[in-house]
Amino acid sequence: MGSTTVWQPLVMDQQWPAKVFDVQCTACPRLHAFHEQNRQKFPGHFNGPVPPFGPDNAELLIVGLAPGLHGANRSGRPFTGDYCGDLLYSTLHKFGFANRPVSMAVGDGLQLVNARVSNAVKCVPPENKPTPAEINTCNQFIAHEFKVHPPKAVLALGLVGHQAVLKALGQRQSAFKFGHAAQHDLGAFRLFDSYHVSRYNTQTGRLTAPMFEAVMESISRFLKV
Ligand code: SF4
Repeated sequence: MGSTTVWQPLVMDQQWPAKVFDVQCTACPRLHAFHEQNRQKFPGHFNGPVPPFGPDNAELLIVGLAPGLHGANRSGRPFTGDYCGDLLYSTLHKFGFANRPVSMAVGDGLQLVNARVSNAVKCVPPENKPTPAEINTCNQFIAHEFKVHPPKAVLALGLVGHQAVLKALGQRQSAFKFGHAAQHDLGAFRLFDSYHVSRYNTQTGRLTAPMFEAVMESISRFLKV
């Protein structure tokens, strides 16, 4: 028999309806086991499914891949706690979607304005690689997020985010090809694509600040129409 200790989340930015986000979700056995390991190894980390961050009525929804082990999985907020959110939050601030350019931790006073950040997979996967089954299982949450809090524009950061958005809408993957700065009219909303804001992409120059700002500029213009 395993331990009967019930994990309790550390403080979170906000609460969500259970269909949009369930902090006690254990539907993916491998990810649940990884959380259990990490609770032993990194007891100060959040170590649970990471909730969406930002107002529930935001017109812009940003969909990333999954929490990083020492980033969102540490802080309990998407793209927070490591370098991964630096470009994202500074650019959101530059375009008026955030009240400050840096996301440090839950409770730091950062507020997003008309934007919300979420992930295709809510739990940290080993080596940053969720399996197709895990991506599918977690897709229920993004699908409900679209229904309960419908956005006008969605920004997919990377291919996995792009595919998760299409899947949640029941759209054919082959009909909407991922490409940096591509735009897709999906009826319910417009999907904007960007390379992921990962350290690897920004350090190798695959994604530069001007490239990412150009995508945000397109989104800003679209939302103002
Ligand atoms: S990845 Fe999503 S579906 Fe899987 S356990 Fe985490 S919250 Fe649940």
